[in-house]
Amino acid sequence: MIGITWKRIEDRLGHAPIEENLKIICPNCKIDMLQRNSIIWPGNTPPINEVGWKCPRCAYYKKFIIEDTREYIEEVLKRRDGHNWMMPPLRTWTDDDEAALQLEALGYFGGRGKDKEK
Ligand SMILES: [Zn+2]
Repeated sequence: MIGITWKRIEDRLGHAPIEENLKIICPNCKIDMLQRNSIIWPGNTPPINEVGWKCPRCAYYKKFIIEDTREYIEEVLKRRDGHNWMMPPLRTWTDDDEAALQLEALGYFGGRGKDKEK
């Protein structure tokens, strides 16, 4: 699909695309996909952060594997209070009404991006 270069971020997510405001587009619907989850595996060789994006319309799912050092992945695990799985914060979600409805139908909360307001 696309090659993405990742950077470390001071956040429980651990990593983000280097390119600011990168759009990951669904190959079926040609709309923005949304980050669905991040799962870190400190015990893997090499340790990884597995991140997934999902299309809010057709539910197409794309997984990316980010390799990093064991020290860093364990640090991210501490930021998450020992939970290796997490959903991204609501601010990365959507203001688009159709996408929000689809997200709610899939069982997400806060898909209307309420916490985008600062
Ligand atoms: Zn789609």
